Amino acid sequence: MSEVAVFEGVHKTYPGGVAAVRDVDLRIGYGELVAVVGPSGSGKSSMLHLMGTLDRPSAGRVAIDGHAVAELTDREVSALRAQRVGFVFQQFHLAVGMPVLDTVADGALYAGLPLRERRRRAAAALERVGLARRARHLPHQLSGGERQRAAIARAVIGRPVLLLADEPTGNLDSASGATVLRLLRELHAAGTTVVVITHDREMAGTFDRRVEMRDGRIVADSGPVARSVAPAGTRPEPLLGAAPEEGR
Ligand code: ADP
Ligand code: MG
Repeated sequence: MSEVAVFEGVHKTYPGGVAAVRDVDLRIGYGELVAVVGPSGSGKSSMLHLMGTLDRPSAGRVAIDGHAVAELTDREVSALRAQRVGFVFQQFHLAVGMPVLDTVADGALYAGLPLRERRRRAAAALERVGLARRARHLPHQLSGGERQRAAIARAVIGRPVLLLADEPTGNLDSASGATVLRLLRELHAAGTTVVVITHDREMAGTFDRRVEMRDGRIVADSGPVARSVAPAGTRPEPLLGAAPEEGR
């Protein structure tokens, strides 16, 4: 097993008949850094949702970290997502009135870790994104860039193999955007597979691999850069059993 994400003939048609993803074949290896580009409405977010198992395809096959999503129960899909995938969206909605440390710690809620360990990891993750001194702050005390850095901390405390980011710098000024990009690159350098949707051509141009979408199809793909190697200790291993059913 050498690929963290495999799409074979994947279609996604929403109720109402919008064909958002059409006949997509894509293989992303462990450790790749991929930019997904394309005009608004071209199916980028829909594809990312399929990759993150937030959605199931209408047709075709999606396999994530060696698990064919169609063959899993809903509980197994949730476990796969919780244990292997991290998300960063355009806007991070932090819980009002909750200290940043706790919001970040909740990122590992379903990984089956005790609260103390979640808090320990959250503190380490905040340190990693340069927010150690903001741990006790409330959401309204953070800038947009700091919120996105908190979002990244939250996304990685479960130690995902696959980090998916949908326009993570879309709402940021260029300096904050550059910081977020630098963090994503650091995570990639540390071994995480990172897939980023971006409108920013310049940013996309600096990525190892670019996948371009139009009208739900992949119209260009610069291809994998390095031979993909599964990180040491990678499964297959059972999805259920590691984590308690209800997390807490
Ligand atoms: P992008 O991220 O490239 O802007 P999207 O994947 O968000 O593209 O959308 C692709 C197409 O699917 C668009 O026409 C959009 O309106 C449609 N679409 C996206 N999400 C839904 C949904 N939940 N229900 C119906 N149509 C949707
Ligand atoms: Mg989108």
